[in-house]
Amino acid sequence: MSAEHLDDIGARLAAARARVAAAEHDADRAPGSVRLLLATKTVPLDGVRSALLADAAARAGDPAAPAPVLVGENRVQELVAKAPHLVDLAPEVHLIGPLQSNKVNQALGAAGCVETVDSVALAERLATRCAASGRVLDVLVQVNVSGEETKHGAHPDAAVRTALDVAALEGLRLRGFMTVGARSSDPARVRAGYRLLREIRDRVRDGGEPGAIELSMGMSGDLELAVAEGATIVRVGSAVFGARPL
Ligand SMILES: *Cc1c(COP(=O)(O)O)cnc(C)c1O
Repeated sequence: MSAEHLDDIGARLAAARARVAAAEHDADRAPGSVRLLLATKTVPLDGVRSALLADAAARAGDPAAPAPVLVGENRVQELVAKAPHLVDLAPEVHLIGPLQSNKVNQALGAAGCVETVDSVALAERLATRCAASGRVLDVLVQVNVSGEETKHGAHPDAAVRTALDVAALEGLRLRGFMTVGARSSDPARVRAGYRLLREIRDRVRDGGEPGAIELSMGMSGDLELAVAEGATIVRVGSAVFGARPL
């Protein structure tokens, strides 16, 4: 990335932080209750490192600073290429794109959380590998709240059952739910999807899985709607890194 573009990243990150803080305030939520995940697909390593360094600098010396940013990659190949070069900055790294069964081992080597568990079959594959190595992996169950065919995720009607089955697997720790919101210019429609994810989370959390608290929802274009519906993680790409190449 050009030096100019790298300089922009810190300012854009500060603006994204300010949006999250304003959304928390408007929703009567505690400051810092929403974590910011940087969606880094197609962003070169120097761009990701700039964002993490800017975040560390902005938080330094401020006891009231929000939690550090998370890093989210969509493709296992990109995750595996970049993650080893971020180790010194120690971000929490999540997989936020679909996981094919033949990439499970690679993903486990680089991600601390898989947000895209959409079936018990995939969860079992992850659990088997984790149990074999004595590790516990954080997972979110991805739900397709909009019903759009192009979107991944469990059907909302099956999500509670799927989550409870996932939570029962040794080697996995169910932390909550993730969704990609409806592609719609109608805020009411987008919000309804986020509300549905929260209701699914509440049923699972209150139905015997008190650790299933996370709601990963909302992106650059609609994070305010997601925070209003209870998001605990918003995933932001273009607002920090600029438009992606097509
Ligand atoms: C790309 C991506 C994002 C971020 O999208 P922006 O609109 O660039 O903020 C969030 N979540 C997922 C799963 C993504 O693929």
